This record gives sequence, C-alpha cells and structure tokens, in this order.
Amino acid sequence: MMPPETSPRSSSAATARIIDGKAIAAGLRARVAVAVRDLEAQHLRPGLAVVLIGEDPASRVYVRAKSKAVLEAGMRAFDHHLPQDVSEAELLALIARLNRDPDVHGILVQLPLPPQCGVDKVIDAIDPAKDVDGFHPINAGRLQRGLPGLVPCTPLGCLILARSALPSLDGLEALVIGRSNIVGKPVAQLLLAANATVTVAHSHTKDVPQLCRRADLVVAAAGRPAMVHADWIKPGATVIDVGINRITGADGRARIVGDVAPEAAQIAGAITPVPGGVGPMTIACLLANTVRAACMQHDLPAPDL
Ligand code: NDP
Repeated sequence: MMPPETSPRSSSAATARIIDGKAIAAGLRARVAVAVRDLEAQHLRPGLAVVLIGEDPASRVYVRAKSKAVLEAGMRAFDHHLPQDVSEAELLALIARLNRDPDVHGILVQLPLPPQCGVDKVIDAIDPAKDVDGFHPINAGRLQRGLPGLVPCTPLGCLILARSALPSLDGLEALVIGRSNIVGKPVAQLLLAANATVTVAHSHTKDVPQLCRRADLVVAAAGRPAMVHADWIKPGATVIDVGINRITGADGRARIVGDVAPEAAQIAGAITPVPGGVGPMTIACLLANTVRAACMQHDLPAPDL
C-alpha cells in the first residue's frame, strides 16, 4: 500500500487536496524499473510490442510516450507502425507473430482501429497472457470472477489513486459515471472487489446529480467536459476525473479539461487534476502489467508493485 501523496491546492478558494497522479505514477515507474533490474539478473528482460495503425496524431503521441516509458524502465520496446489501409488479415498475422515471439511479453494495439479491422476480433486474437491492456474476454472474465489476471491500465490507475487518498474503500458509496469496457465497467469491478458499494451511471441514468450527491467516491469517465458540477459533489468526497476532453477556450486556444468542473475542488476532500491525474497512471500501469505478464509467462512470482 503506497502512502498518501496529496498536496494542498494552489488556489486560495480551494479546499480539496490534489491527488498528484504524476508523483504517484513516478513512484510506480521507479518500482517497475527496480523489478525489471531484478528480472534481468534472472536473464529475463520484459518486452512490450506496441502496434500503431495509421497517422492519428493523438495515437502517435500516446504510442511515442509509451515506448519512451518502456525504454526508460529498462524494458524492450518493439514498435510496429502499419498503414491506415492495412487489412484485418495482415493485422491478425502480425498479432499471431507477436503471440509466438518469446521476447514479446506484452502486446498493445493502439485504439481506435480503422473500420476494416474489427476491434473485437483483433483484441480476441491477442494471447491473454500478453494482453497488457486487459481487454481480452479472458482477462475481463477473470476480473469479473475476482481471479488474478491482467487488469486494464486506466481503471487500475484509478484504483491506485483512490487508495492513495482514502484509508479504505470498504463500505464506501462509489459512483462510476460511464460503463465502457475499457474504463467504466472495469473500474466498477475493481471497486466492488475492494468492498465499495458501487453504482454505475450511463447516458440513460435518470438522475446522475442525485446519485453523485450521496457518493463518497466519484469516478467520472463519461468523456463530457465539466459535466459533473460542483454542487453534485458530497462535501469531502474523493473525485477521480478520468475525462480527457479537448476543448477550445474563449481565447481560441485548445486545452484539455476533465469531466469534472474545476469548482468541484472547493467541495471535494481530494480530487485528481486534469491533466496530471489519471493520465500518467495509465502508462505506469501499462509498464507494471508488462512486468506482471513477463513473470506469469516464466512462472515467476509477480513483484509487489
Ligand atoms: P466512451 O465514450 O466509450 O464511454 C463513455 C461512457 O459515458 C458511456 O458509458 C456513456 O453512456 C457514458 N456517458 C456519456 N454521457 C453521459 C452522461 N451525460 N451521463 C452519464 N453517462 C454518460 O468513453 P471511454 O470510457 O473510453 O472514456 C471516457 C473518458 O475517459 C474520455 O474522456 C476519455 O478520453 C477518457 N480516458 C482517459 C484515459 C486516461 O488515460 N486518462 C484513458 C481512457 C479514456 P452509454 O454507455 O449509455 O453511452
């Protein structure tokens, strides 16, 4: 269990502590680097293959950041860049090769995929033991059953951040806003496994503000800029803001905002910033999952990260 890493807010009007995702992610990355050195002493160097399709600028930025982090942690990075018009068969053939490659312990296919490549078919083709994104049905099923497996990176990051701010999640009322397979649903499963009482809201939910007002912990993952208003937040609640929304401000400049209005920091007990909250945790958890996958594939105990 890591110590709380929160800091006083910078704004005088604010009362919540900022949960410093950058610092917590840096700590996890440092522990991963130590684990990699230990594995190297046993002649095992974890390797991550990242598959990027097309030229989407955001995907390129993510992939570059992931590969840089992998190398900094002392692991091997195998980058595969395929053209936008790659066929599904070619992509599946690459995944089959990576599944067989003993130097590759983790495989990540950057989403979204072009329309000719079926996302479910591609995810299902990844060896579950190398599925460091945790999206394969086997890993999703393991999470649902409470069995050990590879857990999706962003949800894992959310849980670590929530734990850093709260002494225990046991018995807390938690609201997860969003039910996607990559964020909302796995976050809800992780919170349930930690004995929180979990409500999941989605676009058909009748009264999200009311549900929010009784939540001790809110995880906002709807992809709607500032949809969670300050007066939805129960005083002292912990707020994990997963949203990454690109908006253009009144000055005409693009910026990133979360799903939670900034004023919520005047009501919450602890809150993640955007950027600098959940985002950095996603890459750190990807590195941790690659180490876990390498250990599992070699029948070694996974390090306590
Ligand atoms: P999706 O679009 O796949 O899912 C959004 C979910 O939010 C859906 O379940 C949707 O409901 C629900 N939703 C949408 N509008 C509302 C509303 N008004 N009230 C309640 N629920 C609503 O998004 P993702 O899960 O992929 O991502 C969510 C956000 O997290 C995005 O901003 C994304 O950029 C960000 N993200 C951040 C990451 C990070 O590293 N920090 C990583 C991954 C995502 P329904 O199912 O009914 O449509």
